[in-house]
Amino acid sequence: MTIHYIPNDPAVGPLRRVKAYPKRRRDALLKGPGGYSERLYAPGSKGFTVWQCREAALRGLACWEEMFGSLRRWARNKTLRMRPFQRFQQLGAYDRAYLSFSMLGDGPTFAAASADAVTHELGHALLDTVRPDLWREVALESQALHEAFADAFACTASLADRDVRRAVLSKSPDIGSPNLVEAMGESLAEAIRQARQRGEAYAENVSGPRRLLNTHRATSLPHEELPADGPPNVLVATPHSYSQVLSGAFYDLLRFALAHHPAPTEGQLWDATKGAFGLLVEGLQSDLRPRTFAELGRAMLAVGQRRSGWATWVVLAFARHGITLDPGSVPMPASITGGPSFGRGARRRLLHAWGFVGDTPSRSSRVEIGGHPGVHIALRRHVPVRGGPNGKKLWVPVRDALLVSLKGRPTVIGETPNPSRIESAVQADVRRLLRSGAVARGRTSPRRPCSFYLRTRRARRYLRRVRFLCT
Ligand SMILES: [Zn+2]
Repeated sequence: MTIHYIPNDPAVGPLRRVKAYPKRRRDALLKGPGGYSERLYAPGSKGFTVWQCREAALRGLACWEEMFGSLRRWARNKTLRMRPFQRFQQLGAYDRAYLSFSMLGDGPTFAAASADAVTHELGHALLDTVRPDLWREVALESQALHEAFADAFACTASLADRDVRRAVLSKSPDIGSPNLVEAMGESLAEAIRQARQRGEAYAENVSGPRRLLNTHRATSLPHEELPADGPPNVLVATPHSYSQVLSGAFYDLLRFALAHHPAPTEGQLWDATKGAFGLLVEGLQSDLRPRTFAELGRAMLAVGQRRSGWATWVVLAFARHGITLDPGSVPMPASITGGPSFGRGARRRLLHAWGFVGDTPSRSSRVEIGGHPGVHIALRRHVPVRGGPNGKKLWVPVRDALLVSLKGRPTVIGETPNPSRIESAVQADVRRLLRSGAVARGRTSPRRPCSFYLRTRRARRYLRRVRFLCT
C-alpha cells in the first residue's frame, strides 16, 4: 500500500507517493496514531496527517539508528506514542510518554503534518534517552541546548533523504543560502502569522521559522540584554529562540565540513551531516556531561581532535556565534594543590577558593583532556528563588562543573565558575519562567499545559519539569 508523504514541511513540498514505513516490532517502539487505514489521503486532511506523522517519526528514528545503532528503549519507557490532534496553544510537546501535536486555527493546520515538527519532538525524546539528566535543567541556556539539539536532529533527518539533499545542493552547492532544511516548520510559522492577524495570542517571534543558517551570537549571563519578544529574525529570551545560537554553530560546522569538497555531491553532503551530528552526540555523551553551549563546544572539540579537520571546524563554527572554545587556563597555586597530585584536600581548597560553600556536594571523575589526564568536578546544589506563588521561595537545581588538567602542575581549564553569577542568572531565568506562565500553579487546563510544576518535599518547594513544550 502507498501513502502520501511530504518530506521536511508542507510549505516546501514536494508531495510523494511512498510505501509506508514498516511497523517496528522490537527495540524502542513508536506507536500510533491510529484510526485511519493505509491509503492515499488528500494533504491537509486528518488521514494524511496521521500517516505523515507516523512516516516522519519512523524515518527519523531510522536515520538515528543508521548513525548510532538500534535504540533499545526511550528515556523512561519502551514505547513512545504519538498524538497528532491535541488542543493546546503550542505546536508540539514531549513528555516522556507521548509526542503530542496541536491543531492551529479553524482550518485547521495540523502541526503533525510538518515532518520538521515531528522530528523536532523526536529529537527531544532522543536527547532525553542519551542525556536524561538534562530534563531537570531550568537555566535558559540549558533549555536552549535541548531545543538546538531538536532542531539539529530535524535538519539531519531532512538531509537523510537523497532527493532533499539534491534539492538543497542545486540551490547552493555550499548550502550557504536559505533553504528548506535549515528553516524549521515553515508552514506552521505561516499559520501562526495568520493567527496573529486574527488577534490570537502568539508571540511575534514565532511568526517566522527558526533558522539554522544564522549569525546569532551568544550573550553573556544572565542574558538580560535579550528582549522578551521581537520579530522572528531577532534573538529573544525563550529557549527556542536562543537555541539558534547553538543550532547555528551546528549548521556552520556542517558547512565548514562540506567546504572541504570543491563540488560536493549529495553523498558527500550526507557524510558531512553524519560527521557533524555524530560529533554533537558524542560531545553530549562525553564524560564532561555538557549543559552549556561552551561546555558542549569544548566536549566536541575534544572529540574532533581525533578526526582530521574537525577540531578547526568546531572552533570556527562556535566562534562565529560568539562562543570562544580556546580553553584559557589558570595554574593553581601550591597553597591549593598542596603538591603535584590533586587529592581530596586540593579539591576542597579549590572549590572554596572559587566561592563554593563548604557543603556543596561534588563528584569528581577522571577524564582525558587533549590526550592528558584530568579531573572533572561536578557540583550539585539548589539555589533559592523568590517570587513563587504567594511570594514563597522556590528551590532550583543548579549544576556547576570544573575541569582540571593534570598535565604538569594542576591547572583549571576554561572558564572558572562563578557561583554567585550563575546563581543570579538562574534566578533571572526562573523569574522569567514564572512570568511566562511556563510553571503550573494549581489546576491547569489541558489547553494551557505547562512545562514545569512545583513539588513540595520536606517543606521546600522545587521546580520540576513535566514536558518540553514547543512553538
Ligand atoms: Zn522543542
